[in-house]
Amino acid sequence: MIRYSCDMCKRELDPDEDLRYVVKMEVYAAFDPTSADEDDDRDHLQEIQDILERLEDAESDEIGEDIYQQLRFDLCPECHKKFISNPLGREIAKVFGFSAN
Ligand SMILES: [Zn+2]
Repeated sequence: MIRYSCDMCKRELDPDEDLRYVVKMEVYAAFDPTSADEDDDRDHLQEIQDILERLEDAESDEIGEDIYQQLRFDLCPECHKKFISNPLGREIAKVFGFSAN
C-alpha cells in the first residue's frame, strides 16, 4: 500500500486517520502585452493558446520549465489549512502590511 507523507511538514499520513489534500498548481508564462503594443492582444492570446495546445499534444518536458510547470503536492489537514490561508507563503506581516497610523 502506498504511504503518503505531507510535502510541507513531512509527516507521514495515516490513511485511516488523516485526510490527504492534493494541491495542483499550474504555472506558465503569461506573455502579457506591453502597453506599447496593445493592438497585439490577439497575437499574445494566440501564443498562449498555441502553448496550451502543444501541451496537450506533446509531453510537457519538451517545454521549458521557465514557460510551463505543473506541480503537485500532498498535504496533511493542518498544512492544508495553512496553505489555503496563505497560498503564496507570504509573510503575514506583509499581507497586512499597511501602517496602523
Ligand atoms: Zn503537514
